[in-house]
Amino acid sequence: MFNMNNTKTAVNEQPPKLRIKNFDEVSGRYSSEEAIMEAKRCIQCKNPGCVGGCPVNVYIPQFIKEVAAGNFVEAYRVLKMQNSLPAVCGRVCPQEKQCESKCVRGLKGEPVAIGRLERFTADYFMENYKEEEIEIKKNGIKTAVIGAGPAGIACAGELAKMGYDVTIFEALHIPGGVLVYGIPEFRLPKAIVAKEINNLKKFGVKIEKNVIIGRSITVDELLEEGYKAVFIGSGAGLPKFMSIAGENLNGVYSANEFLTRVNLMKAYHQDSPTPVSVGKKVAVIGGGNVAMDAARTAVRLGAEEVYIVYRRGEEELPARAEEVHHAKEEGIIFKTLTSPEEITGKDGWVTGLHCSKMILGEADRTGRKAPVKVEGSGFEIEVDRVIMAIGQTPNPLITSTTLGMEIDKRGTIVVNEDSMETTKSGVYAGGDIVTGAATVILAMGAGKKAAKAMDEKLKEKYK
Ligand code: FAD
Ligand code: SF4
Repeated sequence: MFNMNNTKTAVNEQPPKLRIKNFDEVSGRYSSEEAIMEAKRCIQCKNPGCVGGCPVNVYIPQFIKEVAAGNFVEAYRVLKMQNSLPAVCGRVCPQEKQCESKCVRGLKGEPVAIGRLERFTADYFMENYKEEEIEIKKNGIKTAVIGAGPAGIACAGELAKMGYDVTIFEALHIPGGVLVYGIPEFRLPKAIVAKEINNLKKFGVKIEKNVIIGRSITVDELLEEGYKAVFIGSGAGLPKFMSIAGENLNGVYSANEFLTRVNLMKAYHQDSPTPVSVGKKVAVIGGGNVAMDAARTAVRLGAEEVYIVYRRGEEELPARAEEVHHAKEEGIIFKTLTSPEEITGKDGWVTGLHCSKMILGEADRTGRKAPVKVEGSGFEIEVDRVIMAIGQTPNPLITSTTLGMEIDKRGTIVVNEDSMETTKSGVYAGGDIVTGAATVILAMGAGKKAAKAMDEKLKEKYK
């Protein structure tokens, strides 16, 4: 029997006043009973829109049907057919724009909580069972993956399961990409990412940390060393700035630096070797997930007033709806339709942010309404720290040291969309390095697609 309740089964959350004092995960997860109750809200559509809404086409009704029947291990098996990181995606996918946006239950109420059910299923399995040992017939063909973020992890996992000898080269000392250095612990516990990385190692994937491709060794040198194919999943980690006056003042951070220091270097521990000075009043410029993460982190580090300054309206905020909701509950002040024009300072330190009010005009090239300045509307927000979270572009290190690989004017690598092969034969790319800053699930989908194409080509040549 279906559960025709129009709202999602609620999940436990740490109360805002408590959680702003810690870095523990904010959202709890369903109990088995709650998961079954929520799964029964899925009416098992014959033509399920949700599957098409998911970039990797998870068999959503099938896995939910198993949850509804209490068959959690089988539900996990179905999930894993299409998604190698369900515990991560259940937590961080923008479900309201993807799978859940196409759920028919959303027409008259709230959609089925697909993300929460995905998280429940993955957590349940990880806490109670071990991944099945799969027998892999090794083929001895060497392949290299650059970057241990979602794109690289997905590509390496697929290649290893197909029998390839896979080495990941990672610039940082901990693998995981944005999942470890960008997204904070209170949204995605690092123990979850570590478990996923351990699974990769079980498949025989080697991870060479602290290796910067383009500096320690180049892509061309990897090919000369006998790697028969290379996948580049190096992400888009170079922060953008606005080129406004005052950006060089002390107290201005890029969100990347700020979050990396906190997440990777654990700046919130008192004895951290790389503490961050968060100040009392912080303005975070931008409206995406990165901005929400930086603002919510600043609150947890003790800032008394934290602003999100965004030049479009509330409806246009690109961050996940849940992040915006949580940020508001945590007391973050949203200054939408507000554009920063100058960071003001005294004695070399930030003292304020001069802004103008905006209105939304005609749609621009991206189809979004362009913000237009309201003349004479200038005002100042008193702050002592400014965090820039207006986007990232790819670091040019790899592309500038690889011969014969085309990039476009944004610095992203040009690929054949069917195979993810670049214009350099045998070299593939996917994730943010191809799309520009996007999402975890899209990066994983690209890594998986590339692995399949690499196998097709290598099979013909070497097997
Ligand atoms: P990355 O995750 O960036 O991984 C690239 C890896 O390559 C890194 O480990 C890097 O160290 C390594 N690397 C780079 N250069 C080199 C080199 N020269 N040599 C060797 N290794 C190298 N997406 C969502 O879906 N939901 C969210 O809630 C969300 N929140 C986000 C919050 C933040 C703060 C940020 C920054 C991003 C967020 N995103 C979110 C976006 C998402 O994390 C990215 O789209 C995704 O991680 C891209 O995966 P990737 O594998 O392409 O790159
Ligand atoms: Fe939804 Fe993401 Fe899971 Fe796909 S992977 S079903 S988009 S939560």
